[in-house]
Amino acid sequence: ARKFFVGGNWKCNGTAEEVKKIVTILNEAEVPSDDVVEVVVSPPFVFLPVVKNLLRSDFHVAAQNCWVRKGGAFTGEISAEMLVNLGIPWVILGHSERRLILNESNEFVADKVAYALSQGIKVIACVGETLEQRESGSTMAVVAAQTKAIADKVSNWVNIVLAYEPVWAIGTGKVATPAQAQEVHSELRKWLHDNAGAEIAASTRIIYGGSVNGANCKELADQPDVDGFLVGGASLKPEFIDIIKSAT
Ligand code: 13P
Repeated sequence: ARKFFVGGNWKCNGTAEEVKKIVTILNEAEVPSDDVVEVVVSPPFVFLPVVKNLLRSDFHVAAQNCWVRKGGAFTGEISAEMLVNLGIPWVILGHSERRLILNESNEFVADKVAYALSQGIKVIACVGETLEQRESGSTMAVVAAQTKAIADKVSNWVNIVLAYEPVWAIGTGKVATPAQAQEVHSELRKWLHDNAGAEIAASTRIIYGGSVNGANCKELADQPDVDGFLVGGASLKPEFIDIIKSAT
């Protein structure tokens, strides 16, 4: 069985004081044990050390990005080696905000995934279509191409969680319906089956992201191919606890 996974992507939000408040709320929450749900929160880089140090030991931290190869003369970048050095176990790669605003291509994202994995960092790899792509009927072609770029460079998927995040659902309040999410998740799992193998397809967590909140998470979590969530806005609020609890 695939362990339920709940990620909190804090994006470019928070002050040192706010971050400490969120961690306190998380630390005091009663949630299912980490045998049942894997919880990973992703603060901005500058807050990673403090969050890692203060956060309860059954929750883990993720960076929101890292450099594509070994560090060096790349001003403004943070290398996978640095994350390893700080004991950061996870990184989010290929978020649509980076693909679309910072022009990260499928190949560039795939190179990052392969490099981070090679350094021992686990990856939340994001895929998803825009509204225009959905309306033109190319959703599956888009997410398959994004996934294929990764599969072309990576053969071991044990340390990858695939996050399906339709761009039209991110930060819009327009959550995908459970049926819409299930359809893409099951097609992604079929794609993995046909292209990466039955075992990878059966074991890889495919999580949903895009306007997930405390009220809509349970119905989504009930879908057979929805193995958890990547939560943006609601991960900064106490309702993140309710989303974690949707694991059971
Ligand atoms: P929202 O939950 O704010 O829609 O963001 C989703 C997301 O982008 C998580 O990575």
